[in-house]
Amino acid sequence: MIRNNWTKKEIQVIYEMPLLELVYRAATVHRLHNRTAEVQVCTLLSVKTGGCSEDCAYCPQAARYHTDIQVHPLMQTEEVLRYAEKAKTAGSTRFCMGAAWREVRDNRDFDRVLEMVKGVNALGMEVCCTLGMLTESQANRLAEAGLYAYNHNLDTSADYYQEIITTRDYDDRLNTLEKVRKAGISVCCGGIIGLGETHEDRINMLLTLSTLPEHPESVPINALVPIQGTPLEKNPKVDIWEMVRMIATARILMPKSMVRLSAGRAEMSIPEQAFCFMAGANSIFAGEKLLTTPNPSFEEDQQMFDLLGLEAMEAFKTAKAPKMSTLGSATL
Ligand code: SF4
Repeated sequence: MIRNNWTKKEIQVIYEMPLLELVYRAATVHRLHNRTAEVQVCTLLSVKTGGCSEDCAYCPQAARYHTDIQVHPLMQTEEVLRYAEKAKTAGSTRFCMGAAWREVRDNRDFDRVLEMVKGVNALGMEVCCTLGMLTESQANRLAEAGLYAYNHNLDTSADYYQEIITTRDYDDRLNTLEKVRKAGISVCCGGIIGLGETHEDRINMLLTLSTLPEHPESVPINALVPIQGTPLEKNPKVDIWEMVRMIATARILMPKSMVRLSAGRAEMSIPEQAFCFMAGANSIFAGEKLLTTPNPSFEEDQQMFDLLGLEAMEAFKTAKAPKMSTLGSATL
């Protein structure tokens, strides 16, 4: 059953279960709602890099931090489409374009992004963008151009948000998500762990996500990759079991969403990633870069898929229940 009325107490009980029990329950829910051998493969390209006016404490693209980022204006459409074709050939079915903007402006750059959306759509890929805040008319224009999904992460809990970002607030995020939903675009929304938040913050973020009127179709779970020059440069590495716990809880709360094992994967071994898939992750970012941070290559991922018996999900395929359920009574 898909529920949008989870309570904080219920989520806390799930989140705090002994880890192996939690993973077992999440794996059971996953099998009831999805084909567990299928993993969605997405590629994320930074089409406009750096120089952002926001102050997200984890982000090397914020203009105010001194990082090694190579600032780059908006790429040309042809170049982006070449990347998209390459990603498609390598096995990606979703192509996500990220621009380091606070919000979209109605200018020539936005017109170019609309061209990119049309071009990627014409390749038969699911096209996604992450461009910052949107107005209703911008969301509609993106939808008309063929945008399939829009990424706009909540990052953390409402309570902890101001410790991480001061240049906008939580409601700004929720408002954009509402506009995306209203325009008929699929919602991609998740968060990051390792920002210095408490377990309660993680539970609160999952509460917000799982009680939205509709669950986001994609829920990226990121582990902070601390970048020199950002305020969080000295944060400790996220323990793999923390990632597994977040993924498993997200899977139980939002059974049909694509739970994406996102940033931080480059530091994970194959057995660690296997545990994340077991806990219900069914989507990854593939390709050497995740915006500006390193990520495993397509070849490494193919080897991992072969080893674990996983296969890339086709494009435009919603999560389907297995034909035959032999799992009996999953209660969560
Ligand atoms: S809005 Fe995006 S690009 Fe800008 S600082 Fe925040 S995370 Fe980085």
